[in-house]
Amino acid sequence: MLKILAIANQKGGVGKTTTSINLAASLVNSGKRVLLVDLDPQGNTTMGSGVDKRPLDRTLYHVLLGEQDIASVRLSVDPGKYDLIPANQDLAGAEVEMVALDARETRLKTALQSVSGDYDFILIDCPPALNLLTLNGLCAAHAVMIPMQCEYYALEGLSDLVNTIKRVRSRFNPSIRIEGLLRTMFDPRNLLAQQVSEQLQQHFGDKVYQTVIPRNVRLAEAPGFGLPILYHDRQSKGAQAYLALANEVLTAASQ
Ligand code: ADP
Ligand code: MG
Repeated sequence: MLKILAIANQKGGVGKTTTSINLAASLVNSGKRVLLVDLDPQGNTTMGSGVDKRPLDRTLYHVLLGEQDIASVRLSVDPGKYDLIPANQDLAGAEVEMVALDARETRLKTALQSVSGDYDFILIDCPPALNLLTLNGLCAAHAVMIPMQCEYYALEGLSDLVNTIKRVRSRFNPSIRIEGLLRTMFDPRNLLAQQVSEQLQQHFGDKVYQTVIPRNVRLAEAPGFGLPILYHDRQSKGAQAYLALANEVLTAASQ
């Protein structure tokens, strides 16, 4: 059964893109068919998948504006072996231009319907904002994965995101739910990180993934090579953590 996951947090630099790319490759490693949607005009997911965003003349922007169908924009990525809907700076324009269009919040959802039969998982890497692009991601998704760093202001930002998800649930997408909170860039020697992690578990209980993504320099290097961590350093702690996360996601999807 298809599962569509939005990977969202309005804070930048919390590991959304790293999680999107590496969860996609790890799910493929388990034999799943995966589509990764780059919903951020920064195009980091596109570049980190080994695709040069600059020369692309057909991207998610054209899909959201109804100028291309999604199948004609998707690319097959190597060696990650997932499919990608790429994005670049053009997508920033969609944020403005979609305002005037019908059903502006559900354009991604509608576009995905024509390819949904090809996949077991669709992952949507959201931009670092609670804007119309992110709303499109949340309206299209069955559930939300929230990567977060265990630092002082982490919980504060979370309530804005949770409120946005509630708004989406009441207006557009009644079945959307939070699939899980993912602790990223975790350093177990950092006392504050430990405390915030404990608070998270107290507030959100089993909504917090058991898998913790450690701070790992191999994960930071991999995008420079356009590679998922599995193909950069499979033995690294980062690679092992994302394989474990994929197993958790697969278990949740089978329940
Ligand atoms: P976001 O998409 O939320 O803005 P990114 O995934 O781009 O965040 O991560 C922000 C930066 O931190 C990037 O330079 C990335 O390579 C690095 N990074 C992400 N996760 C880790 C990690 N677990 N360990 C070390 N560096 C990481
Ligand atoms: Mg990102």
